[in-house]
Amino acid sequence: MKRMLSAVKPTGQITLGNYIGAISNFVKYQEDNEMIIFIANLHCITVYQDPKDLRKNLKDAAALYLACGLDPNRSTIFLQTDVMEHAQMGYIMACNTYLGELNRMTQFKDKVSKNETGLTAGLYTYPCLMAADILLYDPDYIPVGDDQKQHVELTRDIAIRFNNRYGETFKVPEPLVASVGARIMSLNDPTKKMSKSENNDKGCIYLLDDLNVIRKKIMSAVTDSYGEITLDQQRQPGIYNLLEIHSAISKTDKQELLNRFKSQGYGVLKKEVADVVTERIGEIQKRYHEIMDSGQIETILDEGAKKARYIAAKKLTKVQRKIGIDIHKR
Ligand code: ATP
Ligand code: MG
Repeated sequence: MKRMLSAVKPTGQITLGNYIGAISNFVKYQEDNEMIIFIANLHCITVYQDPKDLRKNLKDAAALYLACGLDPNRSTIFLQTDVMEHAQMGYIMACNTYLGELNRMTQFKDKVSKNETGLTAGLYTYPCLMAADILLYDPDYIPVGDDQKQHVELTRDIAIRFNNRYGETFKVPEPLVASVGARIMSLNDPTKKMSKSENNDKGCIYLLDDLNVIRKKIMSAVTDSYGEITLDQQRQPGIYNLLEIHSAISKTDKQELLNRFKSQGYGVLKKEVADVVTERIGEIQKRYHEIMDSGQIETILDEGAKKARYIAAKKLTKVQRKIGIDIHKR
């Protein structure tokens, strides 16, 4: 059995992009793999979060993981801060990462080039903490959306460097990017990724949005004036995105969808995408309310943290001994 590890940040409400590109895949993978899934609450504070909103987003993220079908009996589900080895290993990883490597990370470069102010040191070194999150558990695969591939590549580089310096310590993991839905785009600007922290409510579908609001967002999605439906992503990014969303949720091949919709108007396509999406999100919301009412979330996260800590603590000790900073006799 292969081990996989992944996470979502509670920087805002979980989006349809997170569901399609990440969580729905975790649910599928847990059938045949050992899944370690956490809520990356340390990563989310690299950008200021209002504490009240953060508390809500955190609990919602845990409930939504479960509502989307992650099963605590099969997968290890926990909060990053409940396993303190992450932060300590993060520091060690930062000491094995070069500034040049961090400077090349496109996510950070984008923020700098947009002249965003108040960028924190935590945001800059976040790929080091991410490397720690991963390498503590020796996973085989890291299922991520397209945007996170570069950070997994850096994790690999750090692991290889560490293994060369100190002897075989870490398994070198592979990123696993699904062929459909790896980059769901914003509905009102289909050249931009749908992101929960962009404050673009019109372009973003949140799993906890009212179903009527979701329908409206899809019906008013930005398309084009060509008046035809093709799979040309460059020319028709809005149409392509709608087909991609449909395909990911209905598990229908995009070519098959194209054959079905190509002689129809945009309104027909949008309506069917809205039907497919609201049906799936409606089911998730029903489960979400049951889970919130069950009072089980705390217990599930505690048990997950216990399982994770067992693996992480052993690995951290091994790493510290290899480096020479731990001289305890055990
Ligand atoms: P933020 O804006 O705070 O970075 P985000 O929406 O990008 O939020 P993350 O927590 O960074 O979400 O990512 C969680 C997972 O969801 C990652 O595996 C990421 O690759 C995936 N993901 C994020 N956005 C999308 C998207 N639009 N399409 C497909 N996958 C996505
Ligand atoms: Mg992101």
